[in-house]
Amino acid sequence: MYDFKKDFPLFKDRDVIYLDNAATAQKPACVIEAEKEFYEKHNANPLRGFYPLSLEATDAYEAARKTVQHFIHAASETEIILTRNTTESLNLVAYSYGLNNLCPEDEIVVSIMEHHSNMLPWQMVARQTGAKLIYLECEKDGSLSEAKLDEAFSDKTRLVAITQVSNVLGRPTPVEEIVRRARKSNAVVVLDAAQSSPHMPIDVQKLDVDFLAFSGHKLMGPMGIGVLYGKKKLLKAMPPFLTGGEMIDSVTRDGAKYAELPHKFEAGTVNAAGAVGLAAAIDYINKIGFETMQERELTLTKRALEGLKAIPKVHVLGSELAEEHTGILTFTIEDVHPHDVSAVLESDGVAVRAGHHCAQPLLEYLGVRSATRASLMFYNTEEEVDALVKSVAGVRRRMG
Ligand code: PLP
Repeated sequence: MYDFKKDFPLFKDRDVIYLDNAATAQKPACVIEAEKEFYEKHNANPLRGFYPLSLEATDAYEAARKTVQHFIHAASETEIILTRNTTESLNLVAYSYGLNNLCPEDEIVVSIMEHHSNMLPWQMVARQTGAKLIYLECEKDGSLSEAKLDEAFSDKTRLVAITQVSNVLGRPTPVEEIVRRARKSNAVVVLDAAQSSPHMPIDVQKLDVDFLAFSGHKLMGPMGIGVLYGKKKLLKAMPPFLTGGEMIDSVTRDGAKYAELPHKFEAGTVNAAGAVGLAAAIDYINKIGFETMQERELTLTKRALEGLKAIPKVHVLGSELAEEHTGILTFTIEDVHPHDVSAVLESDGVAVRAGHHCAQPLLEYLGVRSATRASLMFYNTEEEVDALVKSVAGVRRRMG
């Protein structure tokens, strides 16, 4: 089998078992090269100059937007807003759509599984508009029951914010069912695809969500570039989130005529090199194919889940099935703080995340103060999974 790790320069120089992929993925050489090439050969401020270099920078930036459009099957590239990350994309929707469309009679449904980035913006919107925030609770295994869905949705629901994959439980949510219910009450759906976009194909038209956000860095692209997809009709009607250079058509002393989509939402100098890097990451994913990636990730996840479950006093959060983890295994070890777990793992060269995973309300709901998370990508290996399991098995003994 091809050794995917060879594609990643970091693994050549660092002896690390990197199992913190859900926080950020490693970058293949083609992504690093694409960014470097932009700066070495095409660097100028895009969308501003009319000299060749600037036009090249503009072309590279707009080509990257098209790559993103095809990646998520959006109907038009004007529906693709390039941002800094998922957090900025979700805040854009909250400030620009939420504050301008919700009122005290309305209800916002937010799942309890949300990362703080898809929760705090809606808390802010609720506070400022008077809309009521309703938490959609999951079962302990991360599934959403009909009863809980019935409880959360009402004819007052106007916006639903939900993740496609929980960054703690790894379990995909039933997006189709959420959209079906949202349509019944005339609500828009905001889908957080930060954890799904690196692992599964996304078709925004089939999903029929209104907004979708993800980060480049989690799908092996550069940090500092993210995506917001929005339906054209909605984006058109929304005021800009940030104002200033680049997002205008013309300006007078009294005001401004804003640029057309998507530039209306891209104020200031854009991260063109980041966009080019993101496009290279998408090309890399397309070259390997989600099918191959998913097969590898499932094999590794099964092995890790079985290994961890067999260790006494280790409890994996979420589903019993590897298929419902998307490579994410969050666990607790009785009587050992996750920071100590990660320190022991670190001493064995295994890098994992410990803490509340920016999902404090979910952990509180699950009755867990903090936990350790190992997250896998297709480029991890069986040997690395075995090293994780072996290290976890020794934690309690080594902690005395
Ligand atoms: N949403 C989910 C589900 C996440 O896992 C993360 C990051 O871990 C975010 C949002 C925020 O992503 P970013 O920090 O790239 O904005």
